[in-house]
This record gives sequence, structure tokens and C-alpha cells, in this order.
Amino acid sequence: DEEAPMSNEAPARDIAAEAATALTHLTSAPLTGVWSAPGRVNLIGEHTDYNDGLVLPFAIENRTWCAVSVREDRLVRVYSTFSQETRELSLDGIADAEFDGWSAYVFGVVWALDEQGVDLSGVTGVDLAIASDVPSGAGLSSSAAIECAVATALNELWDLGLDSGQLAKACQRAENVAVGAPTGIMDQTASLRGEQGHAVMLDCENLVSELVPLPLEEEGLTILVMNTHVEHAHATGGYGERRAACERGAEAMGVATLRGLTVSDLPRAQELLDDVTFRRVKHVVTENERVVETAAALRADGPRAIGDLLLASHASMRDDFEISVPELDLAVDTAMAHGAVGARMTGGGFGGSAIAVMPKERLEEASKAVKAAFADAGFTAPSTFTVTPSQGPRRDV
Ligand code: ADP
Ligand code: MG
Repeated sequence: DEEAPMSNEAPARDIAAEAATALTHLTSAPLTGVWSAPGRVNLIGEHTDYNDGLVLPFAIENRTWCAVSVREDRLVRVYSTFSQETRELSLDGIADAEFDGWSAYVFGVVWALDEQGVDLSGVTGVDLAIASDVPSGAGLSSSAAIECAVATALNELWDLGLDSGQLAKACQRAENVAVGAPTGIMDQTASLRGEQGHAVMLDCENLVSELVPLPLEEEGLTILVMNTHVEHAHATGGYGERRAACERGAEAMGVATLRGLTVSDLPRAQELLDDVTFRRVKHVVTENERVVETAAALRADGPRAIGDLLLASHASMRDDFEISVPELDLAVDTAMAHGAVGARMTGGGFGGSAIAVMPKERLEEASKAVKAAFADAGFTAPSTFTVTPSQGPRRDV
């Protein structure tokens, strides 16, 4: 991790070729094609998705590739360079199939397509080989990347004609049911609708999204990701508790979800709710507003104008939603002391990564300072790397 590339000029691995080569673990039949989909980083809008709120993620250049060779029978077989193992599933009887381990992310997509009523009775099986440079479990959504790469490949191969919204829903359903992770639809939407140099503002109430310009390169900026490697045991319980507090707050305020409230409702909320519930509600309501303000600032003045909004988002998660940890706070504070335009923790909280919008000329300095500050505090060494707003799914071969 110490040697993680600090710039995007690092020699690029040809991972599309790695995926194509990995197909030889499955078949000697010819390659049909290679598709890929990216991971994502959430710029702002945290714990808003399940409250029907707004999020502003972007697709990153790290991607997962899926090389395909069509079969003549009804088997779907998958090999991943990540686990170096092969799993298989029959398309007949898929509705009753059971899933476990990493292949649930792949087979779950096929299962979800069938569950959504897509007619798979006439399609042929496929051999799929997966290779990726999205780090797994680092908060960059390697899970959405693998789901969306597979879904994009199958959509084209099987001529399903599904749009990005339908594909996102199938991928989310795969993750919720086949994998069993209760996640929102942000990650899959960012992966499927991302564009180079843009973030994706998604309204989780109606799944309408719009692209928002995020011209970092042109402004001499980049986004530094600081992975704390902290994974708190109570992350799952904490997530559930926060969701419950949001539901409690919405019910007490007489709205279906917290999307039904604005900042003008906060004084009434403060009177009605207990202190903890009020602060949970306040985070979500103000975070929705910050997403709107961030998109407006990006459009009007560009990425140097969003620093205060990122900082306010971090403070809200730290003080009101109470999902930060000392490592995340230290990463944010240290980046700010070394030239960051703005910084915040990103993701579900209780650990994971923080991001900082950095002037390129201060990148090395800030990265070193974060590592030194973690060492001084006796924290686990963080890893740091940069990400660039990149394009969504594509066919590479
Ligand atoms: P994140 O999405 O933040 O990377 P998750 O826990 O949601 O973390 O997803 C990581 C899991 O997704 C891995 O443990 C593995 O099961 C699956 N996965 C991701 N990428 C791959 C891959 N290239 N090959 C096989 N499985 C993968
Ligand atoms: Mg994930």
C-alpha cells in the first residue's frame, strides 16, 4: 500500500487483456468481447440515499473487466483473478438457486434479471472471466463494479435492451438479496451513469439523475483518497441504528421519509424530537441541502468553490450523525492543514476512507503529512491514492 501510485501517470496494467487471458481457465473457445464498469467515490450526500434523498458520487478510473466467451449450453461459469477460482450455475432453475461468496455478486445479477421478469429461457450460457483494479473493501464499491460489468456484458450479449435504471435495479437487487447487503442504489447508478469529468447527482426518490461538471484536471486539482483501514465491528449495527433513527424522526414529524422535510422544519423538529433523533434528522436534512448547493457551486464556480460544503458535511457526520472515528477526523484535519480545498469522510462511516480535494502541487506533501500524523497518533498506517471522475460502462474489445 505504501507504494500505491500517487499519480495517474503510473504505468497502466492492461486489465482488459488480463481478463481475456484469464478466460483460458474456463475455455479454449474464442473470446466474444470484454466489457468493463467503474468503481465510485461519493463526493457528498451521505446516509441520504435510504431517506429518499440526494447523493453526488462520481465513477472512478479503477474498473472491473468482464471477458466473455459464449457457450452452447445453459451454464454460466465465472472465474475471477481475485480469488482464482471457478464457479458455475445453470440458467435452468435459476429462480431457486442459492448463492454464497464472491460469485453471488455475479450470479445474483442473472438471478435478479430473471426475477425482474426478463425472459432468459432462450439465452445461451456464457463463460465469464473477471479482472479488476478496484481495491476490494476500500469503500470504492468494487461490488458495484463487478455487478455492473457483468450486467452490461449480459445486456448486450443477450440483447436484453435494458436501460441504465433497470440494470442498476438488477445490480442492487443482486447485492441486497443474493449477497445479503442492505445497500442503496447509489453505487450502481454512479457506476452505470458516470461520465468523464462529471459527478452524477441522483435523486433517490425517483432515480432521476443529472451530470454535474467536476473539472478537476482543468483546475489543477485532484481527489486524494485516504483509506484509514479502520473497520469497526459496530459498523453494521451503527448503520442499522442510524436508519432506525431516521425512520423514527420521519414518523414523529409526520412524513413518509426525511425527504419530506427541509431546513425550515428543523425548529419544529427540535421541539418535537429527543436530542439524538433531532441531530440524526438534522444531518440528513442539511446534507440534502448541501448536495444541491454543491452541484450549484460546481456549475457556477467550479470545484474550488465546494470546500466549505465538504467540511460542513464532515462536521455534520462527526457531530450530529456521529459516524466518524478519530482516524477519519485526523485525515480530514491534516489534509486541510496541507492545502486541501475541502475534505470529508466518505461512505457509511465508523471507518473506511476520507477524501480531500487537493491542488496537485500539494498532493505529495499532504499524503506524507497524513501518514506521519497517523504514525504519531499510533494509528494503523493509512493508504493514499488519487481518483479521477471517469466514464461509466463500456465495451473494450
Ligand atoms: P467494496 O464494494 O467497498 O469494495 P464490498 O464488501 O461491498 O466492498 O464488496 C467487496 C466484495 O465484492 C469482495 O469481498 C468480493 O466478494 C466481491 N468482489 C469485488 N470485486 C471482485 C472481483 N474482481 N472478483 C471477485 N469478487 C469480487
Ligand atoms: Mg460495496
